This record gives sequence, structure tokens and C-alpha cells, in this order.
Amino acid sequence: MKAATIKGPNKPYLEIKEVPTPKPGPGEILVRVAATGICHSDLHLFKGDFGPVRQGFIPGHEISGWVEDFGPDVKNPWGLKKGDPVIISWIVPDGICKYCASGKENYCPAAAGRMPGLVGLNGGHAEYITVPEIAVIPLEKGVDVYYAAPIACAYGTAYHALREAGVGPGTSLVVIGVGGVGLSAVQLASAMGAYPIIAVDVRDYALDKARELGATHVINSSKEDPISRIRDILPDGADVVHEARPEPDLKLSMEVVARAGTIVVTGLGGPKSYFSVNILPFVVNGIRIIGSLGYRPRLDLPEIIKLVASGKVDIRKLVSHVYAPEQINEAYENLEKGLHARAIVKWD
Ligand SMILES: [Zn+2]
Ligand SMILES: [Zn+2]
Repeated sequence: MKAATIKGPNKPYLEIKEVPTPKPGPGEILVRVAATGICHSDLHLFKGDFGPVRQGFIPGHEISGWVEDFGPDVKNPWGLKKGDPVIISWIVPDGICKYCASGKENYCPAAAGRMPGLVGLNGGHAEYITVPEIAVIPLEKGVDVYYAAPIACAYGTAYHALREAGVGPGTSLVVIGVGGVGLSAVQLASAMGAYPIIAVDVRDYALDKARELGATHVINSSKEDPISRIRDILPDGADVVHEARPEPDLKLSMEVVARAGTIVVTGLGGPKSYFSVNILPFVVNGIRIIGSLGYRPRLDLPEIIKLVASGKVDIRKLVSHVYAPEQINEAYENLEKGLHARAIVKWD
């Protein structure tokens, strides 16, 4: 099969080559890949931020496709059949530990060592992928399988963060950084009834997209003062601030979060990134600051899929670029230049 594999920490990061098509082992499902997303986390992987760069490893962790084959001993709780459209979670929990039992699958210790396309398991930048069956989540009728790939990372990460922060009807929300996750947060929050939804970025292109996806106000922080603009719109501050920048910095968040408000952080930062906050307003105003990793595959992803199937979220609006496999290095270069809302590679 055709696959994109890691060449090394320098550009071009990937090479397209022929590799053996994987066979599903016990408890695994073979999926024919429809599309994969181009995600900022991949750049951390290519540059060695997540550990030594593995030459020959297949990245790609935002994956959609069709069930192709089942390995032995598959329990198949969703009743999947060959040809069914699915997405693949990069969080692969064991389903039995105390975190899984309490609905916190995304913090399952076993999942930390096996993330398709990131850690341990080959990813989806290929024509086929095998994964443990717990990672395979069915799509509903009416959900476009190609455009569904970002549900498995950008939308999932945004949705879980919004849920953790308590976003619902009438929640006032500021999203700082409208890349793939930030734009997804804007679109999902709009479907969830949040209002107002204020997007902050330094790229007009991204802010235009945020407006298209449901932001009620957009602020280019390189051209105007975001604190005074946000305070004009929300004199008491925002109930929730989502720090969705790759390098989060809580300075602006702390200035615009409401009393008893929540700051939720999804940007991973680099291995040596820290933030600091002024303790007095943090304590006196009862601010919650929470980190949120990924999503709960068997809980969050089906809920997002239902929002899409019901027509409340149009996933085609998020994707700005569609690439062929041979253009994959160009796709990552354009990601680094900040040109994408979300990009996908079509493998079929
Ligand atoms: Zn990702
Ligand atoms: Zn577990």
C-alpha cells in the first residue's frame, strides 16, 4: 500500500512509499483510509518534541475510512460490518482501568503508550491502517466520510474542552487562537448555544473563517487591543476562555475571564513551555484553569457525530484545503505558514 513515512526532523518531513499492507491481529480492525487531517501536533512529532524521531513511522492521527476486515477475537460492540464508514480515535484506551471506568478514557494510562500516528502505533497517512477495535467509532448516515476525519482530533479536542469548561446555552466564550481546534470550538459552541462567541487571532483569514463558523465577534490582536474590545462586549468578562493557541499564554485569558470563570487550555506548548498567573486575581475571583487532553472516544465522538448528522454542525465548512497524498509535504509547509483552517489528505 501507499503510505507517508517520516524521513527525519528536517524538511521535507515525509516521503511517500510502498509498504506492506498491515493485517489485523487479535482484537484489531483493518480500516481502508478515506482521509486524514493535517494537524499541528504532527509538527511536534516530526521535530522530536514527543521523543526521538522514528524514521519509517507512519504519522496521521485524524483518520476516517471504511471497515475492511476484522482480526480474530473482535468483540464488535457497535455491530460494524465491512464497508461501514468510521473514524479512528487516536486515544486508544484499555477500557478496564479506573479512569476508563469513571468516563475519563482520555487519561487512561494504557492510551499514553499507543496513539496511532503519534506514539507506538502507525497512523493513518496511508491507504490502510489496523487499530485496536476500541478506537473505531461508527459514523452515522448523512455524515461525509472524507470531511469526518477532523472529528477524530480537532473537533473532538474542542468538544471535550468545551464540555469540561461547562459551555452550554448562553455561555459567553472567548476563543484565543483559531487554528483547527479553535475554529472547531467556535463552530461547536455556536451549535451548543453559547453567546457571544469572540474569536481572537492575528490572522484575518482565520478570523473570517471563525465568523463563517459562528463567531459573533472577531478581534485581530495585532491590530487592536483585545482586552478593551472584549471588555466593551462583555464588561464582566467571559464565562469561559478557551486557550487554543499552540503556545498558550494565560496573560490575556486572565484579563478577560469573568469572576468564577473558567480558562480551559488545549494547546500543548513545547517541552519547556510554562505559564504563570497573578495569584491574587486567580484566588480572589475564583478562577478555574483546566488542561484538557483530546476527548473520550466512546462518549464524546458519538455526540459530535450526532451534532453533525442532525445538521447543526456542517463539517465541510471547516476544511479549507484538500490534498492528494503526493502533496503531503506541501500540506505541512502550508500548515506551518498558517494557511489552513483545516486541511485533509484524501487517500481514496
Ligand atoms: Zn491532532
Ligand atoms: Zn483505561
